[in-house]
Amino acid sequence: MKMVWLELNGCSGNIISLLDGADPGFDYMISEMVELVYEHSLMSAEGEEALEHLFALMDQEFILAVEGAVPLKNGGRYQIVGNWQGRSITALEMIQLLGERARYVIAVGACASHGGVSAGRPNPSESVGIQSVLQRRVIQLPGCPCHPDWFLGTLAHLIYFGEPQLDEEGRPVFIYGTSIHRRCERRSYFDQGIFATQLGEPTCMFMLGCRGPMTTTDCPIRKWNERINWPVQANTNCIGCAQFGFPDVMEPFVRYFTLETDREGELVEVLEDE
Ligand code: SF4
Repeated sequence: MKMVWLELNGCSGNIISLLDGADPGFDYMISEMVELVYEHSLMSAEGEEALEHLFALMDQEFILAVEGAVPLKNGGRYQIVGNWQGRSITALEMIQLLGERARYVIAVGACASHGGVSAGRPNPSESVGIQSVLQRRVIQLPGCPCHPDWFLGTLAHLIYFGEPQLDEEGRPVFIYGTSIHRRCERRSYFDQGIFATQLGEPTCMFMLGCRGPMTTTDCPIRKWNERINWPVQANTNCIGCAQFGFPDVMEPFVRYFTLETDREGELVEVLEDE
């Protein structure tokens, strides 16, 4: 099966995450699972030669993996992903061209799934997840970044068994079916009401803002970096990066202050949300 990996409005963190995967890793994917025809960061061919490879796929069967959000402002002119015969091609045009023709479409990471950081407030590029611009089912793999196993496991399922069972948000249930909180190694502290008051204490980090209770994925048993660690084990709370709405519904990366005058006539900064 042929595969295309598009990079839209994002940080390339998902292809980097995939390149760092192991057992199986990226080399196994391209030698045993798919023929990777196009990927922005990895193409040896450049410019129109690369796009020729891509457009030659139009009448063939292929899987489309997409990372990054789609900027909509000014007709999509905020992101140009290629130039073809003197004409710029926007991310919006590219995803609509390929997305409606692909056998399967996989949104890899938070930005492709629901806008993610690229659509974070105030979202000057008016970025959205790819489902918003496609009239078809998109398999969603949210996470910032997507774990290499989440992508390769989904890809293997598509190739060998077809589409996996998806939840109401389009996420594979075998990955996103259980909350982090349920399988966390600090859960017994939560149940006993023993909470950490600062990072570094070995008890439950709920009072420090842990988002494990509202985030569903398998980090506690999957772990990261060749399965040696994950945030809670490393003494940092879960930030909910695999949940729809991240980062704004979890903890905004950007907060705004306004200047107001207090009773004494002094200018004071006030958090906009308060
Ligand atoms: S550290 Fe977070 S995920 Fe773990 S038990 Fe506490 S609240 Fe739940």
